[in-house]
Amino acid sequence: MLELSTPVQYVKGVGPRIAEILAGKGIHTVGDLLHYLPFRYEDRLNPRGIGELRPGEMATVIAEVRNSALFRTRRMPIFQLTVGQGRTRLRCLFFNATYLQDKFKPGQMIALYGKVEEDQRNRELQIIQPQYEVLGEAGGDDAGGENGAGSAGKEAVEKKAAESLEIGRIVPIYESIGQGRLTPRWFRRIIRTALDSLTPDLPEAIPAVVRGHLGLISPRAALWNVHWPEPGESLRDLQSARTPAHIRLIFDELFFVELGLELKRRQQKAQTGIAFQLDDRVRAAIKKILPFHPTAAQKRVLKEIAEDMQKPYPMRRLLQGDVGSGKTIVSFEAAIIAIENGCQAALMAPTEILAQQHYFSARRILENAGYRIVLLTGSLEADRKREIRRHIAQGNAQLIIGTHALLEEKVEFARLGLVIVDEQHRFGVMQRLKLMKKSGEGEESSRALLGSDRLGSAGSETRPHTSPPEPDVLVMTATPIPRTLALTLYGDLDLSVLDELPPGRTPIVTRQVADERSTEVWDFVRKQVASGHQAYVVYPVISENEESELKAAIKMYRELSGRVFADLKVGLLHGRLEADLKDQVMRMFQKGELQILVATTVIEVGVDVPNATVMVIEHAERFGLAQLHQLRGRIGRGAAKSYCILMTGGKITEEGEKRLKAMTENSDGFKIAELDLELRGPGEFFGTRQAGMPDFRVANIIRDAQLLEAAKREAAAVLAGPNSEISSEEISRALVHMRARWQHTYGLVEVG
Ligand code: ADP
Ligand code: MG
Repeated sequence: MLELSTPVQYVKGVGPRIAEILAGKGIHTVGDLLHYLPFRYEDRLNPRGIGELRPGEMATVIAEVRNSALFRTRRMPIFQLTVGQGRTRLRCLFFNATYLQDKFKPGQMIALYGKVEEDQRNRELQIIQPQYEVLGEAGGDDAGGENGAGSAGKEAVEKKAAESLEIGRIVPIYESIGQGRLTPRWFRRIIRTALDSLTPDLPEAIPAVVRGHLGLISPRAALWNVHWPEPGESLRDLQSARTPAHIRLIFDELFFVELGLELKRRQQKAQTGIAFQLDDRVRAAIKKILPFHPTAAQKRVLKEIAEDMQKPYPMRRLLQGDVGSGKTIVSFEAAIIAIENGCQAALMAPTEILAQQHYFSARRILENAGYRIVLLTGSLEADRKREIRRHIAQGNAQLIIGTHALLEEKVEFARLGLVIVDEQHRFGVMQRLKLMKKSGEGEESSRALLGSDRLGSAGSETRPHTSPPEPDVLVMTATPIPRTLALTLYGDLDLSVLDELPPGRTPIVTRQVADERSTEVWDFVRKQVASGHQAYVVYPVISENEESELKAAIKMYRELSGRVFADLKVGLLHGRLEADLKDQVMRMFQKGELQILVATTVIEVGVDVPNATVMVIEHAERFGLAQLHQLRGRIGRGAAKSYCILMTGGKITEEGEKRLKAMTENSDGFKIAELDLELRGPGEFFGTRQAGMPDFRVANIIRDAQLLEAAKREAAAVLAGPNSEISSEEISRALVHMRARWQHTYGLVEVG
């Protein structure tokens, strides 16, 4: 008997060589193999009469071999097979198929599947390269072979046809792997073999009440039916993965991920946090610093954050807001709540430029009110760093701004109350976890997730009061993550959304222009500059080829500063510049001392220069959609009309065209993110794999969004604890299963 955890080599027909090919696809166990689902299904249930075939249709035909021959044409050998039913005949052609030469004997019954076509010369019907299977010999004493002879022949044919994996049913089609070595046909056989010897009692880890809500069938039935659909199954449901079998397998996958995330959330809430006071004094302090009226969205989000901060357990909140939606000021408001309560706040940015920029705006907005702000980045002199660290340790510094150097360096806080992580998408999830670990939490929840000490009491955990309180954490991202993705990627965080831009913005005009027309583009830039505005010119830097791309930016800088805009002040900004120089360039651009900034994507996130109204992106076809949107977010930040010019050079792929079109037609970040997700698929969407998203085998978070929501809901209900519908045994069984899945399948052991 095979278990789901049995190594795949134990399946009959899988040797070490094949096991190696399978391993390359992530198939190591019987369970992995059985979750290798067909990507489509073919209805070969009703074989057709040759006489009723029509050109253009896909059809299954069961017929008798009449004759076959190999023709050698000048271009290639062609194998021709003629089959018949009574007096009708059908021709099949196979290219380069010398190996078929001795395969067929007249009188054999075979099954064929393929597209019916009309031969242009004689208008006869034929099938080119059909899939076929020899079913057995035709009746008659002359027929030999494995199925016996004589009158038993006919029955044997029928029997074989009924048992066949290729014909007389809805047939699963698998993607070939190993350069075509493991074919759909091979998978059909091997998966059938595995199912035949699969243990009859697969563990059921989903509580009965949850199964009831979703009408889930048993795991065993699901595995059988997803590969070998029952005769009456709807082909449409099969293709769209909506059969009961599909739903069971997909839900299974989503439910245990959500259970893990939900448990983590609960762990976090069970920790001791700081219950910040939000009285009139604090409110007045916030009001005092505001340089403008907050938008309704900003007010709502601040309220959500403030409510979290007042709670006695630590905040874990994700603030999502499109570029330019005004996240910074909200984070400053949160910082004031912490500081006015006698705590320190730390703000982490992904790059030095951004840390710098936050530092300057923090000083501009907060320093008048008397708050003490420091900047700690990796590029500071050692002495200076030491001094700042002392300020932090002694509690003099109230708002500490830095890069992730804040994580790495030996920074000790006097009383850290709030951690703000800006532009989250630049940080891997692992970094985020490290940050949380720094605040003492990681170990705790990983023990809770993977250990066994908390089984069965998931709903009612409390922590001893001895450990120091955990700081609140606010994670900010400018990537408008579609809700379904946020649910999986950040399922352990609460979500706030800034869905409104500050008033007075005019929409950005976006145009695609071929780079032969660059002269016109530069003229346009010149006009904008003449009327007092500033411009960005951006070049792609693609990591594999950074060196030469960088040269392109530098070369273009020379060209633009030395010739095209020789009379204007042009600056250059790229990631390889010394930190000092970078700051200097950025500051000059911010102050308007530079009119044009030639840059690589280092300016992608966060940079805020409202007077910049033009962005020219060269080789726009090479950028990802999310990146283009982020880049474009650097303009349109003031009241003046802004223009984004997507210059393209050379060949553009079809997908590239779609990306550019998405940019010229949309300005809403959420819409763009959804298009991006569609174009690239969930796996590629801003590198979710590295970002630590579970690597789903059967679920697809776009297609299965509703099931994901259901899984989240059900997981939360299960963790609310036992009641009349659900026993504590069921809950612990689910948790044990979840831990095993997280460890083995999702590889998220380190998720703290
Ligand atoms: P992001 O969310 O991309 O980080 P920022 O916080 O940098 O956005 O804000 C973008 C710009 O909008 C900044 O210049 C900021 O000062 C301005 N801003 C933010 N909120 C408002 C508001 N309520 N009214 C007017 N301007 C605002
Ligand atoms: Mg920002």
